[in-house]
Amino acid sequence: MAPIKKECDYLVLGGGSGGLASARKASGMFGAKTIAVEVKRLGGTCVNVGCVPKKVTWYAASVAETIKDAKNYGFSVEQTAPFDWPTFTKKRADYVKKLNGIYEKNLKNDKVDWYHGLAQFIDPHTVKITLDDNTEIDIVAKNILIAVDTPGAELGYTSDGFFELATQPKKVAVVGAGYIAVEMAGMFHALGTETHLFIRHDTFLRTFDPMIQEKVTAEYERLGVHIHKSSSVTKVEDLGEGIKKVHYSGKNGEETLEVDSLLWAIGRSPELEKLNLQVTGVKQNEKGHIIVDGYQNTNVDHIFSLGDVCNQGFELTPVAIAAGRRLSERIFGGIKDARLVYENIPSVVFAHPTIGSIGMTEPAAREHYGDENIKVYQSNFTAMYYSMFEQEDKGPTSYKLVCAGKDEKVVGMHIMGLGSDEIMQGFGVAIKMGATKADFDRCVAIHPTSSEELVTMK
Ligand code: NDP
Repeated sequence: MAPIKKECDYLVLGGGSGGLASARKASGMFGAKTIAVEVKRLGGTCVNVGCVPKKVTWYAASVAETIKDAKNYGFSVEQTAPFDWPTFTKKRADYVKKLNGIYEKNLKNDKVDWYHGLAQFIDPHTVKITLDDNTEIDIVAKNILIAVDTPGAELGYTSDGFFELATQPKKVAVVGAGYIAVEMAGMFHALGTETHLFIRHDTFLRTFDPMIQEKVTAEYERLGVHIHKSSSVTKVEDLGEGIKKVHYSGKNGEETLEVDSLLWAIGRSPELEKLNLQVTGVKQNEKGHIIVDGYQNTNVDHIFSLGDVCNQGFELTPVAIAAGRRLSERIFGGIKDARLVYENIPSVVFAHPTIGSIGMTEPAAREHYGDENIKVYQSNFTAMYYSMFEQEDKGPTSYKLVCAGKDEKVVGMHIMGLGSDEIMQGFGVAIKMGATKADFDRCVAIHPTSSEELVTMK
């Protein structure tokens, strides 16, 4: 059967948060005829196998921690049965399904047509979509946005596979040292799985400020996560019945560990082969990321890219959403300079405890401004929540402000401790506005909180 022919002003390849935000703005606000295509489920990584199910799991882990903590406040709460992983994961999957439906409804409200199918470039302006029933649609588009997913590695399972685990692992090996490894290891441990984290160096989160790296790695060790430092996984053997033997070289030479679960969290990379991108001439870097400028332009005039698939270095949902909206404002809304400024972007790691970070690390600021122009304020303390705890059960809190120049502009803020996830956003506004240390100090402290420490640092 000959392919169906369609035309549009804007074709969005990828139904993740960034692509859909851009599509909805282009169509709903500026009236551009817009079509979106997704081969998996609407919502992309964030909704289906990322932020959303992760945060729900993090809440479950937090409840487990609170149950343990309760005795310190005089409650005799006992966990009489193990955590009900299957019931929890079913509820979590239902919640994600509900969100998929909301995404679909939002597209309809904004008059974006969408197709579930595989996209493949035929020429720089034409994309063939093969639907699930093999119907083919050739779409000729004036503008095309590439905002497709970036799957993880396949061996053991990745964070995508984590959300499909039907039963709770008894003993897990997590390989990696970034956001995903640290978040997943923290959640597994809090929920009662024996957790082994394999990292290549002595600390994890090595792109974060050294204070964060050291304090959080030490805290994971104190909590009882088994961290195999300076290790490298060399081989994995399948022993059958779900058991895997992990071979690794570490500080004690060659060793092995048997586990019933293995999670790879060593970064995600773009997979664009199926897109047939070569017919467009769009350039990619050596890791396969699409190369864009600060306006999401590729080297081909009418083709744009954003999100995890491009080379902008922030694999964060709100970054893709903001970039997508700015892009539509620029292409269809006549706002010539609309773009996302990739500077001072706050982010949070849902570790145990949570971590918040914005701006430059201390070493980066020293290098950028020179040692003599940097002043650092740091505070380590015990949050009041732990006042009722035995000394050995108390968790740490550490905050750091990195200030530059005579006016001590805050160019970096790095925090870890209870509630850092919620604290970060408001301070992000202040830092984005160019706040100085004096501005922080002028804000009256809210007492008693942990965050008051940030406006009273000496
Ligand atoms: P990251 O890129 O953050 O981290 C992966 C890390 O794994 C590397 O930095 C490296 O650390 C280590 N690594 C790389 N190769 C190997 C290897 N062969 N063996 C062992 N370790 C290795 O990737 P993630 O998968 O953690 O996450 C992908 C992205 O998703 C993140 O960058 C983040 O932007 C986003 N994300 C954001 C979240 C949030 O906002 N809360 C949550 C989850 C993900 P080292 O060099 O130290 O070995």
